[in-house]
Amino acid sequence: MKNAYFDQALDFLRRFYGYKSFRPAQETIIESLLAGRDTVAIMPTGAGKSICFQIPALIMPGITLVISPLISLMKDQVDALVEQGIPATFINSSLNLRESRRRLSDIASGRCKLVYVAPERLDTEYFHSVLEQVEISMIAVDEAHCLSQWGHDFRPSYRQIAPFIAGLPKRPLIGAFTATATPEVRDDIISLLRLRQPAIHVSGFDRPNLFFRVLRGEDKQKFVVNYATKHTSDSGIIYAATRKEVDKLYTLLKKRKLAVGKYHAGMSDQERTAVQEDFIYDNLQVIVATNAFGMGIDKSNVRYVIHYNMPKNIESYYQEAGRAGRDGEPGECILLFSPQDTMTQRYLIDVSTENEQRKVHNLHCLQRMVDYCHTPECLRRFIVNYFGDTTAPENCGNCSNCTSDAERIDVTIDAQKVFSCVYRMHERFGLTLVAQVLKGSSEQRVRQLHFDQLSTYGLFRKKTLADIKLMIQRFIATDYLMLTESEYPVLKLRPSAYEVLKGKRQVFHLIEKEKEAAPKKGTSLFTALRELRKTLAHRDNVPPYVIFSDATLQDMCRLKPKTLEEMLEVKGIGEVKLEKYGKEFLHCLISNSNH
Ligand code: ADP
Ligand code: ZN
Repeated sequence: MKNAYFDQALDFLRRFYGYKSFRPAQETIIESLLAGRDTVAIMPTGAGKSICFQIPALIMPGITLVISPLISLMKDQVDALVEQGIPATFINSSLNLRESRRRLSDIASGRCKLVYVAPERLDTEYFHSVLEQVEISMIAVDEAHCLSQWGHDFRPSYRQIAPFIAGLPKRPLIGAFTATATPEVRDDIISLLRLRQPAIHVSGFDRPNLFFRVLRGEDKQKFVVNYATKHTSDSGIIYAATRKEVDKLYTLLKKRKLAVGKYHAGMSDQERTAVQEDFIYDNLQVIVATNAFGMGIDKSNVRYVIHYNMPKNIESYYQEAGRAGRDGEPGECILLFSPQDTMTQRYLIDVSTENEQRKVHNLHCLQRMVDYCHTPECLRRFIVNYFGDTTAPENCGNCSNCTSDAERIDVTIDAQKVFSCVYRMHERFGLTLVAQVLKGSSEQRVRQLHFDQLSTYGLFRKKTLADIKLMIQRFIATDYLMLTESEYPVLKLRPSAYEVLKGKRQVFHLIEKEKEAAPKKGTSLFTALRELRKTLAHRDNVPPYVIFSDATLQDMCRLKPKTLEEMLEVKGIGEVKLEKYGKEFLHCLISNSNH
């Protein structure tokens, strides 16, 4: 960073955050903002997005408004900042009138550097009158993908941001931040925020510390219960599609005496807040939830995320799964696929009130999600490719496809049978009918259309219909076949399928034998530090990870500092935290040092 402010930025990073250096992406983004340039930053979860606007906010004169979609997220972020010694506050509808006025007068008096605000607040008159009294240097739009209709989480209130900015006496610098944005969402962010020749920074989408796993044909309930029982000392989230399923899984886990909570839209606000807090404070180890859960959660030590049902697209999946391992320590993301999920999602798209163009778009995104569940290739590579990053290696060594001891089987002959069946049915029918013909089914529709006369009829008489469908899904996922994006999707051959039919190309599938990852065990020192963290969190009424992240505790275990001075070497301990908690943790480290 050549900027004159760089030394100051680095000094703040050390002092307030306890980190020695910026990550390369952070450096580029901070430099761009400090040079006064509008900036779009697309960084994966856990990459350290917040520091990118917090540190420039500390350096610039006046205040920075941080626009953030969810109230609970705001509270967490502000709590963490105040804990680090950074003057921050938030304004949203969770505050009563007196408290908001108190905070607004704090802002007017210049006592805050960072002000977190919900987009709905932007058009209140009183808010405006306060803002006229202070200098706004920067507007940081967090979760900026909420602006776009093409994103997975469109929020109309985000459309108020641009008019709000236009109404300010002086246009501040604008930074937009998000973890997931396809190229079309990116373009929307730029135009809808009316950015001026913005610097665009896209970090890799990869989350190397996450292990990705897809399981098909599993007894899902049994899997979830086993997994949660084996990982009782880890925080985890289990996502299910419906309230009913959430209730069912919750009851099952409760019976096993696990510290489990549930969360769905059918519960009262109060109940939901309580569960969320209990999870954040590590009183609950695992939450079973619908996708309503999580946007407001900034918990960094979630160790696993299981999807009991397949989500509607890769964006949602990556966002939800990405809640694991934000502290950079290993996390596991497991998707339990069943064909029923595809039908449910397809149905939801069909009955939605969206226009035709969007329905087609949504069907396309759904198909990519289904493909993810069937690809024999690296899951990580599949995901980052989806977001436009084509540089990932072929084998990541850290996903269920790359590490499986599955055998690579030549399925060229089977492929030829399937493709010629599709061809003989004139590429005009869906997956189920093709599978039925190959199975030799005596369904009325098969006979009516005279498909029982085809030479491909009954070629897979010995396989089950489900296996035939799975095989076809795999040919779709590997780009030999495609499903049209129409109301009744139809199977078609892609050019590569013709090559297979002509005998010019071989096809391979991975036929897997599943194995369980060994559960990780914390050391007793780590456990002692975690206990201490929990006690202090309770005393100070903050979430445990706000005191120190799991990564910081791990680093303490590695370095085993013996003095307060050495304690500063630990990743994540700055001066303020050292003063607050240094002694207690040092004592714990020393008294457990013989372990
Ligand atoms: P994001 O908002 O991008 O998901 P966060 O801002 O929550 O990510 O940061 C993720 C984790 O990485 C946090 O625990 C944070 O303290 C840590 N972190 C951020 N920047 C650095 C850095 N320069 N060095 C070490 N750790 C960092
Ligand atoms: Zn892989």
